[in-house]
Amino acid sequence: MKSVSRREFLGKIGIGTATAITFPALGARFQTVENTQKLNVALCGLGRYADFMAYGLESSKYCRIAGLISGTATKVAEWAKKYDVPKENIYNYQNFDQIIHNKNIDLVYVLLPNAMHKEYVIRAAKAGKHVIVEKPMALNAKDCEEMIAVCQEMGVQLAMGYRLHFEPYHLEIKRLGQEKIFGQVRLLEASLGYKTDGLNADPNEWRMKKTMSGGGPLMNLGVYCIQSCRYVLGEEPISVTAQFGPNTNLQYFAEVEASITWQLHFPSGAVATSTSSYNAGIDRFYASADEGNFELSPALSYGPFKGRTSKGVLSFADINQQTQQMDEIAKVLLARQTLPAHITGEEGWKDMKIIDAIYKSAKTSKRVIIK
Ligand code: NAD
Repeated sequence: MKSVSRREFLGKIGIGTATAITFPALGARFQTVENTQKLNVALCGLGRYADFMAYGLESSKYCRIAGLISGTATKVAEWAKKYDVPKENIYNYQNFDQIIHNKNIDLVYVLLPNAMHKEYVIRAAKAGKHVIVEKPMALNAKDCEEMIAVCQEMGVQLAMGYRLHFEPYHLEIKRLGQEKIFGQVRLLEASLGYKTDGLNADPNEWRMKKTMSGGGPLMNLGVYCIQSCRYVLGEEPISVTAQFGPNTNLQYFAEVEASITWQLHFPSGAVATSTSSYNAGIDRFYASADEGNFELSPALSYGPFKGRTSKGVLSFADINQQTQQMDEIAKVLLARQTLPAHITGEEGWKDMKIIDAIYKSAKTSKRVIIK
């Protein structure tokens, strides 16, 4: 009998070493073993967004918080108590690789500062765990390529933490654009910003440090603007022009941009203009098509969203974006299927290539071709 390597094996079952292997009858959607009907998720990094994610996971049908990875013993003890996580499923940044031996963790969700994404995605993948990584995927497109290659090599799946891909208003604008319900979309505007340099602002927080964040609001918020324009058009941009905005607080924005505006040019001729900002509040999306228009405002934050088209109001249920994201990803993994391309690492890599090009254009004041 041909021996099967660990990589081939993991690739075949689609779930990390963790899960008891049962091969359900054709058509059965989930595993039948009682205690594996939920995906066992380990949260890596217990900061502000991990808090949102944990809250979302509390109402998840298909996931449970099964493990925690943190450098702070007191914090992890509180989380373990709150989410009933057993001691043997708790790791710190030093002993994290031991997770390879833990059969009760299927997936690691990396919620660390941007500069740490690459290392922890790679370590999780090498431990045979599926991975979700927060946006931005890494500090640059080259790092994304490395992350994708290791996940492929290890036969684990890599998803982006793109919450809006599962959100009803966004699914609708994607449909309106891609199915050309109002004809070809010609112009788009998508911007997200909030003021971060208020009285209690900490200039030492990692987001203000270039080595940890990779940049300012473009790295943090810009990805939502880029994403929404890409999925409404269903096209990839071919070039970009970009401009840094004014620095309104030289001390606070010493290492990263305070604001940045860019224009993406698409093969159909459509142009998307966006701003991501740390010194102005904005949260909206607008698309102008040949026979009408549609918009959301608020559009890209946690919601609740509001929307309309030139025909009337858009109205969908206000959902918990994190619960929805996790359940949809878990359903695919539990069914041992392949994640759809638009939520994988490849998607994060495409966005990073665009982000790299935006920074290059803003720095050189030249139009940059996106390859
Ligand atoms: P945060 O600062 O609140 O949390 C970061 C966590 O990393 C903390 O638990 C911290 O202790 C830990 N950490 C470990 N080493 C660290 C180091 N050297 N420096 C700083 N922190 C260190 O940040 P956050 O807002 O939770 O963001 C984490 C990630 O989640 C980022 O990549 C961010 O872009 C992303 N995020 C995504 C969304 C979303 O809507 N999808 C929202 C917010 C943040």
